[in-house]
Amino acid sequence: GLRSNCISRAFLTKSSIRNFSAQIGSKLDGKIALITGAASGIGKEAAKKFINNGAKVVIADIQAQLGQETATELGTHASFISCDVSKESDIAHAVDYAVSQFGQLDIMFNNAGIACHTPPTIVDLDLAAFDRVMAINVRGVVAGIKHASRVMIPQGRGSILCTSSITGVMGGLAQHTYSISKSTVIGVMKSAAAELCRHGIRINCISPFAIPTSFVIDEMRVYFPGVNDRGLAKMIHDNGVLKGAICEPEDIANAALYLASDDAKYVSGHNLVVDGGFTSIKNLHF
Ligand code: NAD
Repeated sequence: GLRSNCISRAFLTKSSIRNFSAQIGSKLDGKIALITGAASGIGKEAAKKFINNGAKVVIADIQAQLGQETATELGTHASFISCDVSKESDIAHAVDYAVSQFGQLDIMFNNAGIACHTPPTIVDLDLAAFDRVMAINVRGVVAGIKHASRVMIPQGRGSILCTSSITGVMGGLAQHTYSISKSTVIGVMKSAAAELCRHGIRINCISPFAIPTSFVIDEMRVYFPGVNDRGLAKMIHDNGVLKGAICEPEDIANAALYLASDDAKYVSGHNLVVDGGFTSIKNLHF
């Protein structure tokens, strides 16, 4: 199918064979996944990884044109549905779409999220902006869990993932509103895990280090207006902690693949931090 087509179209040098065999697997054969915020960044990379491991993926995103382009780029095992995660009816519709197209929902990845560009101090906190961010970063995740569970409980199985952040694990790394939203995602995940385990459904979080996706670059531009995008990406890489490695969307997609697959069949209620050791270091060099 799609995966063998990918191979036959590839320019088969020794290194491309090595790369393809590293990327392609069967850990999600026959599985149906819905990923929010998958038009770009981490969600797109996870969609690619899931498809290369045998899944069919519904890409749900607020950016209709980009989402459609992403689905086309990822091939026949990807389809797009327009979805604003802050609207419960959109989430319900996306879940129903996945089930009507493919008959089941095995993996729900609540990944969509936004940053918050308002002043960074507590006394200046903009509570209207707070409500907007919480509506997407937290309420959107809660709605995703609710509607995925509606389908997964009768199935008696499923894996739910949520994207948190290292800013949800530690204070002082981002604007309060964003940090609060991401720590709440971990709380939501744990609360849901306590109930969903009775139904054979696992739920976990992933907390990435900073990756120069459009999301982070947009945020950094506010604080470093004179630096171009390449310079901003370099600043993130230079502040990474794991010698010889940088945090890339594929690292998060690999974590998502693990948690979504049967490799993690006894893992639930867990927040998997993917940060090269950053949150373990006492004296950060920022
Ligand atoms: P990104 O901007 O590339 O992707 C985010 C996607 O979410 C976009 O496609 C966007 O259109 C979509 N989106 C935004 N609002 C939406 C809404 N209301 N409904 C549906 N879709 C919506 O950024 P990314 O880095 O891939 O971000 C993905 C997740 O990772 C976010 O939850 C973010 O908070 C989290 N995160 C990112 C980093 C990082 O360094 N990039 C670090 C930690 C956590």
